[in-house]
Parts: sequence; structure tokens; C-alpha cells
Amino acid sequence: MDLTLQFSKRVLQEQPLFELSGELSTARLVEEIQEVQSVTVATVHGAVEWTGKVAALTGTAHADAVCTCCRCLQSFPQRLEAAFDEEYSWSKDSLDDPDVVFVHQDVVVIDNVVEESLFLSVPPFPVCREDCKGLCAVCGANLNDAECGCDRTVVDPRFEALKDLLSKADSE
Ligand SMILES: [Zn+2]
Ligand SMILES: [Zn+2]
Repeated sequence: MDLTLQFSKRVLQEQPLFELSGELSTARLVEEIQEVQSVTVATVHGAVEWTGKVAALTGTAHADAVCTCCRCLQSFPQRLEAAFDEEYSWSKDSLDDPDVVFVHQDVVVIDNVVEESLFLSVPPFPVCREDCKGLCAVCGANLNDAECGCDRTVVDPRFEALKDLLSKADSE
């Protein structure tokens, strides 16, 4: 793991605009998101600016994942593009401000902020393409490859039961 994904108060006082870049492990994405099969390490670029009050962090992270399509269950490449920003302060005045992270120590590690932005960059229902036709509910064929010819206009059995009830109610 690259150790440049951090900045320090001491450095910011000498250099009010500090750029950082490096790589971050994305192993937790594979562990925790079922649709993510594999993913490269993330490339991270960011900058921290000392405003006189807070250290304002902004940046982007990129990684290339292989995801499972939630409709057709095929693997497909998914580019992850994340953006993050956070404000840090070493002043106790910031304890009341929910938008600012209070820090005790000189060095601030930003791995958790970057990782969170990468988690949010994974679509909740990844699809291999917008018009993916998915799998046939009858035979399981991938409808993107060919139309299998199954009759998929099967009525939900619960709906059938409701129809019976309604027609009984009508005839009474
Ligand atoms: Zn698909
Ligand atoms: Zn079918």
C-alpha cells in the first residue's frame, strides 16, 4: 500500500496546497459487494488545501472492476470512477461542526474516505448494458444471445387466486 495517501498539518503549514497521489487496495469491494467479482487497485489523485481554518481535501479515484450483470448473470467490465471530498480541522472549535472531521494527530490518512467513495461508485444493480434483456424465466436462456421461443406470459399464481376470489364475489 502506497503511503502517500496522507497529509500532515506540519507540511500544510509550509505548503498550503498539497497534492497527493497513490494507489489503494480495493480488496474489500470484492469481499463485501456480491456483484463485484474482481477489481484492480484504485489509482488516486487528490489535493489538500489549507484554508486557514480547515484542510479541504478533494480528489478522484479510478479502478477497473469485473461485475456480474444483475439481469443476465454474465461477467462484464465496469469502470469505477469515484470522487471524494472532506474537511479536516485540528481545532476543537470544529467539534460542533458535523461537516468537519476533527483530528488529534499531525498525520491524516485518507484511505477510508477514498474507499467509501469507491463503494458508492459501484452501481447498486450493475447491468452489462442498459438494454440487457436478461434470462428467460422459463428456460434460463440468455435472451441477449437469442430468443428461445418460450411462452413467458405465465400469470402469477397469486394473481390467479385473486381473480378467482373476485369472480366469486361478483357472482354472489
Ligand atoms: Zn446483462
Ligand atoms: Zn426460454
